[in-house]
Amino acid sequence: MNPPRHLLQIEGLPPSEIAALLELAESYVLLNRSGQTERDLLHGRTLITLFFEDSTRTRTSFELAGKRLGADVITMSVATSSVNKGETLLDTAATLNAMHCDLLVVRHAQSGAPALLAQKVDAAVINAGDGTHEHPTQALLDALTICRHRGRLEGLVVAICGDVLHSRVARSNIHLLTSMGGHVRVVGPPTLIPPAIEKMGVEVFHDMRAGLAGADIVMALRLQKERMARGLVPSAREYFRFWGLDAERLAYAKSDALVMHPGPMNRGVEIDSAVADDPERSLIREQVEMGVAVRMAVLDTLSRRGLS
Ligand code: ASP
Repeated sequence: MNPPRHLLQIEGLPPSEIAALLELAESYVLLNRSGQTERDLLHGRTLITLFFEDSTRTRTSFELAGKRLGADVITMSVATSSVNKGETLLDTAATLNAMHCDLLVVRHAQSGAPALLAQKVDAAVINAGDGTHEHPTQALLDALTICRHRGRLEGLVVAICGDVLHSRVARSNIHLLTSMGGHVRVVGPPTLIPPAIEKMGVEVFHDMRAGLAGADIVMALRLQKERMARGLVPSAREYFRFWGLDAERLAYAKSDALVMHPGPMNRGVEIDSAVADDPERSLIREQVEMGVAVRMAVLDTLSRRGLS
């Protein structure tokens, strides 16, 4: 059987494959820092980014990654495309096939949309975030960032805090970290923690002090109001009072615990600026840098051999 050509989710990806992607990404961090490029690698290949939801970091870093590897990069603007005129996802797929796209990066509000496209297009499809399902390259870049600071994932205690219910980032991170031997806790109000999430191998806490105690990494999540059909939290100010990550709460974790956030941040809602901008503790900017390297590794791997 041919290896899967797509990256649709972290769930089911073997630890050896995760480790290989992280190792390759590390080499791209060094390449990017040296100012060199590898333009021959994807020369003559076409990469199309198709984002049905907003994005700043993910889309830009995929495009930068594609360009650094020499691909022809096309940004399909959904707002001005025929999708707005009612074209279905599958008609869009047929159009992309006709253009001989090699790599397709998709973000969609519907969980499973990239998997559906993957069945219909000739290109290798990369999920750049689908609904509340997964955001695989975010988990890979988070893992790379952690590894660069702690040298490993195994045995680390990672507390993922806040709106876990709506977070594809949380789901991808849980799959990746647990399969690499990390201990994951999810910390938040009962309304924002999915029922039966323990089945994913995590511990659940509804109290910041207990949830953060002894944590190596504290990952704050954005309150995803756009996915909330009804008010699950009283108000942003109340939320910060109980669940916001500030210096006082961070002190519950290990004394050298590191802070992460996938962005975009709602300062003063899930995270305090003093913590987000603390150069000693916050890895948030570095996460963005790692995003480019990880996406280069993914494009490189999918264009060469697919995933095992
Ligand atoms: N940027 C991340 C995502 O697309 C996290 C977020 O939006 O809060 O899932």
